[in-house]
Amino acid sequence: MPPPGPQGYYAESASPAPLRPPLREALRADACVIGAGYTGLSAALHLAHAGARVVVLEAETAGFAASGRNGGQIHTGLRKDQAELETWLGKGHARDLWSLTEESKSLVRTLVATHDIDCDLKSGLAIAAHDRAALAALVRDAEHLARDYAYNTRMMDAAETAQQLGTSAYPGARMDRGGGHLHPLKFARGLAQVAEKAGAAIFENSPVLAVDEDRSGANVRCRDGLVIADRVVLATDAFSAALAPQLAPYIGHVESFVTATAPLPFPLGETILACDAAVADTRHVLDYYRKSPDGRLLFAGRESYWNPPEDIIGLVRPRMLKVFPLLANVPTEYGWRGTVGITRTRMPHFGKLSSRLSFAHGYSGQGVALATLGGKLLAEEAMGKPERFDVFARVPARKFPGGTMLRKPLITAALLWFKLVDAV
Ligand SMILES: Cc1cc2nc3c(=O)[nH]c(=O)nc-3n(C[C@H](O)[C@H](O)[C@H](O)COP(=O)(O)OP(=O)(O)OC[C@H]3O[C@@H](n4cnc5c(N)ncnc54)[C@H](O)[C@@H]3O)c2cc1C
Repeated sequence: MPPPGPQGYYAESASPAPLRPPLREALRADACVIGAGYTGLSAALHLAHAGARVVVLEAETAGFAASGRNGGQIHTGLRKDQAELETWLGKGHARDLWSLTEESKSLVRTLVATHDIDCDLKSGLAIAAHDRAALAALVRDAEHLARDYAYNTRMMDAAETAQQLGTSAYPGARMDRGGGHLHPLKFARGLAQVAEKAGAAIFENSPVLAVDEDRSGANVRCRDGLVIADRVVLATDAFSAALAPQLAPYIGHVESFVTATAPLPFPLGETILACDAAVADTRHVLDYYRKSPDGRLLFAGRESYWNPPEDIIGLVRPRMLKVFPLLANVPTEYGWRGTVGITRTRMPHFGKLSSRLSFAHGYSGQGVALATLGGKLLAEEAMGKPERFDVFARVPARKFPGGTMLRKPLITAALLWFKLVDAV
């Protein structure tokens, strides 16, 4: 189950969501979707648009977990760059993945535009190099994308980076106008409304306790109700292993922390992020940030695998002040955390557990666009068109080492290692 807790500034700045009832009956459906984050909501709306009877079961409320708490950044590509994917998977497979990741961004934009989802969508994502080696790697990747994928970004030197971002913390950055940012909770709630309009029934406060199958279909069981469905879509990301223990070796999770300052006073509001893009740096345990429409700096980062600290602001603020020392007198007003589903390869993990049950999870910090696409591909797969779903399903998944007992300590050790590497 997701950790309890507020969605911080996002909950305060989004319109209240409609109350949806829990499941208290037995229903028959063509498809039952478990989880109402981007994956589940997008699956539901694409299935419903195609005419399927869809029931969504959500343990809490729509957008309660990562989809309502995240950094809101819309990334280009995957966590591995295209050159690495070409070497690992071959050029054809890498290119198919690239096309789908490009589609993921346009899917978000199209959904927002077509259904008039009010979610503060903006264009622009800057990847800031934390050192010279990272800058050289960004340049190589930019040249590769331009040459082989006709995808153009713009490198910025230290002076321009300082002018656009309002900090001299970086030797350079890459501006990607194809990336962007949005208000994650508004987007999730918007998707829920669109799915309902298309005919999907969403039940909240309805944790699924078990799924079993017999000849009549898959039985998706909640405490007070049951859905019998031809197809089940597991869209529970970091929490998948609770329902499907066979997925436990493949899906890890880390807590990530987000904060929001008070609205930045003049002139800081103009000089910090003058470009109004979102920013992510190149560290393993990265800083990521952007400005809200009401002029706050939403600064996120740090990670922990267990025992997340109570004092989130105290954890994140020192990093923010390292990047933006001029914010010393601007208070941080909100701090919240969310659980990020990660895989060992940092590639999304798609697959099937039976002929009726498919899943997509583990977007590894890039789910705003990819989970929205993941839901669409799950819907295609459930409707008998698995080809595009299989482009992701064919990526070899790797198990986290250590078995049930050792997995947590080993991931924690890996995180610590990454923090040390970032520090040198
Ligand atoms: C703090 C943070 C920052 C992030 N920043 C970014 C970013 O800037 N850009 C980006 O692209 N990605 C980011 N991500 C990742 C992104 O948010 C996720 O990849 C994406 O939201 C995953 O969507 P999802 O629908 O698969 O999962 P979730 O949004 O986690 O939804 C899963 C749903 O399943 C429900 N559920 C779980 N178990 C059950 C059950 N048994 N029965 C019924 N329902 C159940 C949960 O309540 C939840 O609502 C971030 C994540 C976090 C946590």
